[in-house]
Amino acid sequence: MNEEARRETLIAGCRWFAESAFSPGTSGNLSVRVPGGSAGAFLVTPAGVPWEAITAEGLVMVDGAAGPPPDTTPSSEWRLHAAIYHNRPDVGAVVHAHPRAATAVSCLRRPIPAFHYMVAQAGGAEIPCAPYATFGTQSLAESVAGALGTTYRACLMANHGLVAVGADLNGALGLARAVEALADQYLAALAAGDPILLDEAEIGRVLKQFAVYADHPAPATPLTMTEGSAREPGARPPGPLAVEAPGGSLWDDPPPNPEHEPPLVLLAHGSREPAWKDPLLDVAEQLGRQRGRAVRVAFLQFDRPDLPTLAAELRREGIDRIDLIPVFYAAGRHLNDDVPALVAQLEAEGTSVEVLDAPGELEEFGDVLLTLLGRIAAG
Ligand SMILES: [Zn+2]
Repeated sequence: MNEEARRETLIAGCRWFAESAFSPGTSGNLSVRVPGGSAGAFLVTPAGVPWEAITAEGLVMVDGAAGPPPDTTPSSEWRLHAAIYHNRPDVGAVVHAHPRAATAVSCLRRPIPAFHYMVAQAGGAEIPCAPYATFGTQSLAESVAGALGTTYRACLMANHGLVAVGADLNGALGLARAVEALADQYLAALAAGDPILLDEAEIGRVLKQFAVYADHPAPATPLTMTEGSAREPGARPPGPLAVEAPGGSLWDDPPPNPEHEPPLVLLAHGSREPAWKDPLLDVAEQLGRQRGRAVRVAFLQFDRPDLPTLAAELRREGIDRIDLIPVFYAAGRHLNDDVPALVAQLEAEGTSVEVLDAPGELEEFGDVLLTLLGRIAAG
């Protein structure tokens, strides 16, 4: 990844923060490691700029040893990012945020225990809580780096919020969202009673299971970020990323006679950014190989082939029947609205279309990819 792509990745993360209301106001900050530069260099979001106003040029390059250049204003928590990169060569991106539920649990100054097996996503039998220190200080940086140690991928920060790390920004962001979902569930369980905790042996089994997923890594480009299209006011923000593949009948059974099945066409919103498009194409190809079924991708905007173009191509190959799955993400509602008209157009042009429901949880790009990958991993 070159520097431009790295900056674009961070900006995509900023857009997601702007749209999702995950962290209130201008709270939170993101960074990605810059390899090849001076030891521990990283790009971080600037201080005090609203998420939607952060530009690629406004991101600040910080040298882990020398600190930020004198004329720049990196996030007040740049020391925290520096300390994590210094301690953890495995970390390529850091997300810090103040989401509602995780911040609430952090104010109890307690870890999120193994009330649910998914806490193991953070790397151990609990999600630790770093001791309190004043924001922006070296003490806080050391507290958080200490809580993460060499194995944890996320922690709460007492009376403050959370930190999640990953090999790339997508991983860190997905984990931050997963921790917030767990914190929310933990608070609900605490409000209802005394949650029964899983024991060490069970968490050990879960960690082993997760390692199986790690053997099937996702494509190395963002899976979870939305494209930046307008979100309806009050609309549901993107849901937590699950390690599990959501259920759904579509992928469960191989077609009885794959050669006679019409091609499966995934209709996605489209993007000018190859980092978002390539993983879908890649996974569609893997899926096709795995299932012995032709899988094609069409786009609604920006990209070719769009759906009518693809259908025309297929007709030239003698294929006049497709199974269509609208792949929803941020702009899903609009895509959903467009489907009937597109189907009518295709039918008029001589392609018959069966619209299949994607498994229910597939409401955004990242979930689609993770689902497909999960299915592939599960064989
Ligand atoms: Zn903060």
